[in-house]
Order: sequence, then C-alpha cells, then structure tokens
Amino acid sequence: MRNWRTGTGKREDEMTNCLFCKIISKKVPAKIIFEDEGVLAFEDIDPQAPVHTLVVPKKHIATTLDISNEDDALIGRLFQTAGKIAKEKGIAERGFRLVVNTNPEAGQEVYHIHLHLLGGRHMHWPPG
Ligand code: 5GP
Ligand code: ZN
Repeated sequence: MRNWRTGTGKREDEMTNCLFCKIISKKVPAKIIFEDEGVLAFEDIDPQAPVHTLVVPKKHIATTLDISNEDDALIGRLFQTAGKIAKEKGIAERGFRLVVNTNPEAGQEVYHIHLHLLGGRHMHWPPG
C-alpha cells in the first residue's frame, strides 16, 4: 500500500529505517569483511563468539517469511559466502553455526534477514 503522506510504499519506508540497509549503503559504518554485487558481510557489533559475522543480502528482505522464489539464488549465495568466510577464518573444519532468527520469540532485532556465522568456541545444544 502507498503511504499517502510521502508517496512511498511500505517497502521503501522499511528500507529507509533499516539499520542493515544503512550499513549496506555505507551510511552507518561497520567492519565489512566481504562484499559483492548481492551480499555484504560484516562483524557483529556485540560478538557472542570469537567469530561472529553477519552475512546479509543487499536486497531488503525483512524476515525468512518474506523470501520469494526470485530470491533462490541470492539465499544460496548467502550460505556460500558464510562457508567461504568460515574457511578464511579457519573455523570450517572445527565447525561453526549459522543462525537466522525470525520474529520476536526467536529474538530477531533487525528486520533485514542475516545469517549469524558463529564459531571459534564450542556451541551448545539446545541453543538458549
Ligand atoms: P538479530 O537479533 O536480529 O538476529 O541480530 C541482530 C544482530 O545485529 C545482533 O547480533 C546485534 O549485535 C547486531 N547489531 C545490532 N546493531 C548493530 C550495528 O549497528 N552494527 C553491527 N555491526 N551489528 C549490529
Ligand atoms: Zn534492510
């Protein structure tokens, strides 16, 4: 639905207010460790493990529930990128965890999908 005041749609409004869209457009600084045409990876500001990198699509997708068929390749690239970074950081063989939180009960704080790449310490199961 179009916003009557600004003439912009909901998606544009979400992007304007989205922290990760601001990091992608370099309006907010971050420690970027990988970038290509569709994907950006940067270090989490509040790391929960020795390795804690966020891998995000440059396209604004709010949650896993908003992924559409046209995003298939992009989502594949996200996982591939996370694996590449895990190798570069030397945690691939030891093991690492990829987490995608969706909606409040899972603790999603930023509504722009992101893979948490966590590693460098033993991961517990079940997760907290
Ligand atoms: P979520 O809870 O949505 O799954 O994860 C959001 C993540 O973004 C959290 O791990 C949080 O520490 C991280 N984060 C929040 N604000 C910033 C920021 O300004 N810069 C960076 N690099 N990470 C952030
Ligand atoms: Zn966004």
